[in-house]
Amino acid sequence: MDAAVVGGGIGGVATAACLAAEGYNVTVFERAAQLREIGAGIFLKENSLGVLETLGQIDRVKQTGTALNRAELWARGGRRLLSRPIDGHRVSVLPRQELHAALIAAAEERGVRFQTDAAVVSVTRKGAIKLRDGSQFLANLVVGADGVGSMVRDSLGLGRSVDQTGAGSWRTLVESVPADPKNSVIEYWNGSRRVLVVPSGHGITYLCASSRNDDTATNGDRFVPEVWARDFPEFEDLFRRAGHTEMVRREHSKCSVSGWTAGVVAILGDAVHGQPPNLGQGAGMAISNAADLARRVSGGADIETKLKEWETCNRAFTEAVQRWSNTYDDVVHAWPSTLQFLRGPFVRFIGKFPPTRRRWSALGQGLPEILAS
Ligand SMILES: Cc1cc2nc3c(=O)[nH]c(=O)nc-3n(C[C@H](O)[C@H](O)[C@H](O)COP(=O)(O)OP(=O)(O)OC[C@H]3O[C@@H](n4cnc5c(N)ncnc54)[C@H](O)[C@@H]3O)c2cc1C
Repeated sequence: MDAAVVGGGIGGVATAACLAAEGYNVTVFERAAQLREIGAGIFLKENSLGVLETLGQIDRVKQTGTALNRAELWARGGRRLLSRPIDGHRVSVLPRQELHAALIAAAEERGVRFQTDAAVVSVTRKGAIKLRDGSQFLANLVVGADGVGSMVRDSLGLGRSVDQTGAGSWRTLVESVPADPKNSVIEYWNGSRRVLVVPSGHGITYLCASSRNDDTATNGDRFVPEVWARDFPEFEDLFRRAGHTEMVRREHSKCSVSGWTAGVVAILGDAVHGQPPNLGQGAGMAISNAADLARRVSGGADIETKLKEWETCNRAFTEAVQRWSNTYDDVVHAWPSTLQFLRGPFVRFIGKFPPTRRRWSALGQGLPEILAS
């Protein structure tokens, strides 16, 4: 059975590795000249770590990442809103390139072929693919993991909308100093600006600083350490170090779809559930949904029906993750300034009230079974 994956990002490579593990001959078509991941650190939770374990890459993740044992959320004036141990479930943070490399290694070990400089221009529901250079490919199964601007999704009429949330993030990895957090993730909010600091592998600290797109002081063509240091003086030195690195700001997007499958084609990852980076689950859901898709189409019989079952089983939970992530973006970046005094109590309530705490934990870990417990 031949499978084609459109897109060689985290979602596409994870899908390719999982399908190859089920015996498919897999080809990945990537439009860029090389396979690469742009960005800084990435959180991996229980759902994606389980898949990396199955793919034989967990030791690599452990070696190149940091396991976290505490999460803290602070507000203006040094008020701690939440502080909780991370126990019972794993959370690791590592450089994105390391995760991508681990998935590529898992895919290559299982015989996946990668074609770069291979932009796909059309896909039919019967699995016929056309590339920009005019060449064609017919597969028994096609997975579109081609990101939030997905051509596969839109050409099959599965897209509903792609929007900006109105905020964006600067991200970078810097060399750690002893004052940086060791095994905790620290998030600070001040008005509509947010800073997240977390270790991301040995000697590396990951900084993510987000703000509204109309907050012009924070979103010019470069990261300005002094502007951020005024609101978050505790990180002044980190901002100065970050200012010497190459930082990119990306606007947060979210998308909505009418369906996940058409014929023998499925869409996955940001193409389906593009979301702002608040629950640390964009890549996580891509990886765990890829593993479930591969399990269901194992054996190759009746792929259309199996894809529909995959959608039915995973869509509601994935959309709940996406909804909470979108709402988190609004709470951080769009909370009315006149009602700032209510934000802390609201967040504390959500974090401590057992039903919302359980839901938060299930969605953040990517584990629907927590909801049932
Ligand atoms: C600031 C920030 C922080 C984040 N932090 C986390 C985190 O901590 N944890 C987490 O799980 N997620 C996180 N995410 C989300 C995560 O990065 C994404 O969900 C994930 O990388 C999406 O992977 P993807 O493969 O679906 O899409 P993409 O990474 O967008 O990959 C799509 C690929 O398809 C290729 N492509 C596109 N069109 C075509 C075509 N026509 N033909 C061939 N190839 C094509 C592109 O070149 C690209 O390589 C974060 C996102 C941001 C912005």
